[in-house]
Amino acid sequence: MRLLLLGGTSEARELAGLLVEAGVDVTTSLAGRVTRPRLPVGRVRVGGFGGVPGLRAALADYDAVVDATHPFALGMSANAAAACTDLPLLRLERPGWEPDPAWYYVDDHGEAAARAAELGERPFLTVGRQELARFVPALGPLAVLARVVDVPDLDLPAAWRLVASRGPYGLGGERELMAGHGTDVLVTKDAGGTYTWPKMAAARLLGVPVVVVRRPPGPAGVPTVHDVASAFDWVRALRR
Ligand code: NAP
Repeated sequence: MRLLLLGGTSEARELAGLLVEAGVDVTTSLAGRVTRPRLPVGRVRVGGFGGVPGLRAALADYDAVVDATHPFALGMSANAAAACTDLPLLRLERPGWEPDPAWYYVDDHGEAAARAAELGERPFLTVGRQELARFVPALGPLAVLARVVDVPDLDLPAAWRLVASRGPYGLGGERELMAGHGTDVLVTKDAGGTYTWPKMAAARLLGVPVVVVRRPPGPAGVPTVHDVASAFDWVRALRR
């Protein structure tokens, strides 16, 4: 049983750990976006496959695929759904956060930028390096605090402060960071899960409104589970 695990999430690392312990030949695939990724146990391959044709060719080496990529990694999930016509494919996707009345849901990052500009003057952006450019037109002159893992290849407005760091972050640190900056609006994707939750808890404690980018719909028709244990059970059932 050779499993390809499309990763880049804490759930994928956790699943890889369980599968390796259970003797499954698992290869985690990472996109190679961050310079020093947190590596899972088991085999790891890094870099894109070259679209659907490249992924299809790579699948010759595997018996099944678990797509445990981030809920916003739409391209990879769509490619997996298109390429896995002859192989079992499971989507592992953590649930979104339970909505809070102090949150403003928007459909995309452009709308998030406009909404943040209405709500505050000192936004805290936690949307990832790849999305930052979408916020420059609306938030350029504001005192933005932007947190990323790797520094973006982008000239940021002079009024912006960039923090390059990697989680997990605790509630105390998040509260201190947001209070220190005078954050009056937080912008995030609906990442879900506990890993990035402390910033949401800190915003709640500080009374800071949150702009939440809704998840885009994933590919239809792919069997989906929402926790690591269920994905592990799916693989075990395939092995029998
Ligand atoms: P994306 O837009 O869905 O993918 C764009 C392309 O990157 C894919 O078509 C594929 O290239 C390559 N790719 C993406 N994930 C890959 C993987 N796990 N293994 C090999 N190639 C991969 O992806 P993204 O949103 O840039 O996310 C990239 C990675 O970061 C994902 O693995 C995701 O789990 C992780 N991540 C993303 C976010 C987010 O907010 N988007 C947050 C945290 C972690 P080819 O077409 O050449 O195969």
